[in-house]
Amino acid sequence: MKKTIALVAHDNEKKKLIKWVLHNQDKLLMHKLVCTGTTGGLIQDALQKLPGEDPEVIRLKSGPLGGDQQMGAMIAEGKVDIFIFFWDPMTAQPHDVDVKALLRISTLYNIPTATNGATADFLISSPFFMDTYNSSDQDFSTYTKRQLDL
Ligand code: PGA
Repeated sequence: MKKTIALVAHDNEKKKLIKWVLHNQDKLLMHKLVCTGTTGGLIQDALQKLPGEDPEVIRLKSGPLGGDQQMGAMIAEGKVDIFIFFWDPMTAQPHDVDVKALLRISTLYNIPTATNGATADFLISSPFFMDTYNSSDQDFSTYTKRQLDL
């Protein structure tokens, strides 16, 4: 089953992500890829160097310019199946609040999320990476129907 895989890397992690993408190109190219702007450009360049490949890479805005928020919106709309996010644990980011929001929304919507290479390896090795995965239904009714004392 074709999925939408979201890929994002902070600057110091981009090299690592490109290497991971090239290593896993066969499986990744069977899906649709969506990335923040700079990450997406680098991934597209790397994949286009492969003979005969014209990869489908959707590029949002650059992360600090709103791309993280666009990706969060895609997750909230149910448009992302798997999220690979190599964020940098050693460097302060100007868009730290957006990063936090993106991680929060991927957790809330039960999106399989890898924040480092080892977890990304586990995710891509899972049979669910290629097959259908029926995530347990998200039920937010306790929240949406909560009694407000107005
Ligand atoms: P970028 O954004 O791919 O445009 O560099 C990544 C991020 O969210 O920091």
